[in-house]
Amino acid sequence: MSLYYRMSKYYLTTPIYYVNDKPHIGHTYTTVAADTLARFHRLLGDRVRLVTGTDENSQKNVQAMEKAGESNIQAYLDRMSGEWKQTWQDLGITVDDFIRTTDTRHLAGVERFWRAVEQSGDLEKRTYEGLYCVGCEAFKTESEILNGRCLLHPNKDLDTLSEENWFFKLSNYREALLAHLDTHPEFVQPESRRNEIRSYIEKFMTDVSVSREVKKVSIGIPVPGDDSQRIYVWFDALLNYMTAVGYGTDDDMFQQYWPADLQLVGKDIIKFHCALWPAMIMSAAKHDALLTHADGSIKLPRHVFAHGFFTIDGQKISKSLGNAIDPRALVPTYGFDAIRYYLLREISFGEDGDFSHERLQIRYASDLGNTFGNLVNRVVAMSKKYFDGGIPQTDLVRATLPVRDDSAWDGKEGLDRIRSAVESALHAHRPDLALEAIWNGVGDERRSGIVQANKLIEETQPFKLVKESPETVAEILYALLEACRYYAWFVQPFMPEVSSRILAQLGLDAREELARGWVQGLAWGGLTPLKKLGEPVPLFPRIEVES
Ligand SMILES: [Zn+2]
Repeated sequence: MSLYYRMSKYYLTTPIYYVNDKPHIGHTYTTVAADTLARFHRLLGDRVRLVTGTDENSQKNVQAMEKAGESNIQAYLDRMSGEWKQTWQDLGITVDDFIRTTDTRHLAGVERFWRAVEQSGDLEKRTYEGLYCVGCEAFKTESEILNGRCLLHPNKDLDTLSEENWFFKLSNYREALLAHLDTHPEFVQPESRRNEIRSYIEKFMTDVSVSREVKKVSIGIPVPGDDSQRIYVWFDALLNYMTAVGYGTDDDMFQQYWPADLQLVGKDIIKFHCALWPAMIMSAAKHDALLTHADGSIKLPRHVFAHGFFTIDGQKISKSLGNAIDPRALVPTYGFDAIRYYLLREISFGEDGDFSHERLQIRYASDLGNTFGNLVNRVVAMSKKYFDGGIPQTDLVRATLPVRDDSAWDGKEGLDRIRSAVESALHAHRPDLALEAIWNGVGDERRSGIVQANKLIEETQPFKLVKESPETVAEILYALLEACRYYAWFVQPFMPEVSSRILAQLGLDAREELARGWVQGLAWGGLTPLKKLGEPVPLFPRIEVES
């Protein structure tokens, strides 16, 4: 029962974003990756929950409001949070829930959690003096400071803060965290990040301040039982992952979805997600039965995956450079599916990457237009022309095989190999590898990727062959049409709109076809001979680029 239960739910999260800025292409990258994995798991039939949201209890939101010349913080938070929500909606991201850390439901969960940690004896009031970076919302240690400034915020002065704070005894969990990393190597991905976090926990991790004095901050959740303090932003923010699935408000829902199956984060916040966060849960679990499995083990997130940093045409995204790209601005030119493809294909997921306008144009023209779009267009147009507007009638079993001994094309077997490769890549959180397999196929020589499907047309020249051997052409074109249907399935999580348009050109109703589910849908013979095809409309129209 528990195995079925695990396979049938998939809860994934993005970081919640600060509302001191608008969404740019870097945030879009994380969110698109999450959406792609969510869509894949929905096709598998899983009960998926994708949550994103906004981090609002931060002093830097207050500063941003002041800078904007405003004075009503709630109005500012509402407007900016709305901007984020609207952006994801406009881009077609399939968000199941959008949480704000100013939501009442969130406050309830934070309070419950704080009390549990308090009962575990892991909170203690101490005087803290140190250098504080408002950009990071964190105290900085020597190794994180260069020329008197934060490594990540070289343009901001550090504040010297001395105050009474509640401390969370993070160092109590050093051994437990290291043991967890050893027994659950899949917890932190990719491996380079796991090594980094291991060394941090072993050598550098210290107790952390988790509250601020009320007189120093104008925003934040009050510390339960201590009116002089507000909960510090990370301790509060991390809890969104639980409060979004009912922690503190709906125990049944929480038990259905927690622990998270995947938490996507940027590499700059792994210390919080892979050390502080699991330690907080370990602490609270001692006094909150909701946080332990039936076997007594603690309900920690299954995977935290950290992706790399992002540059724009080789430069760091920054307000001062003004190079942040609003993802919506690219949609009229390329269509959002092409942007999704570019982001997920161009960058090895987990590594640093660059958003290059030139590379985007190249990928759009070659991978999408000339390779994928051209294939679908030629196959549908030829079939319509030679077979009376419909799908050719042929021996469906023979059509599974490579047509010639020396063919680059490996038929159905190659398509099945791609299917397995897509599944493994997405289970390993590597959308880039999945796309690589769909385009180039899998295998030593003969393959069945989109590239080889195009080669099959060159090899066999159906437009010439049709006069002497219409039977062979029927076989070839049926195989290629069916391959296009497979590709439409394969790319569905990545390019949902393009996928539906391909299915429509193949004469299928996308909604009905996708309702069959991944396993049923990816069985040979989904196209019925003699059934009418749709119109071969170009999927990726040529774009004029100003230089
Ligand atoms: Zn900083």
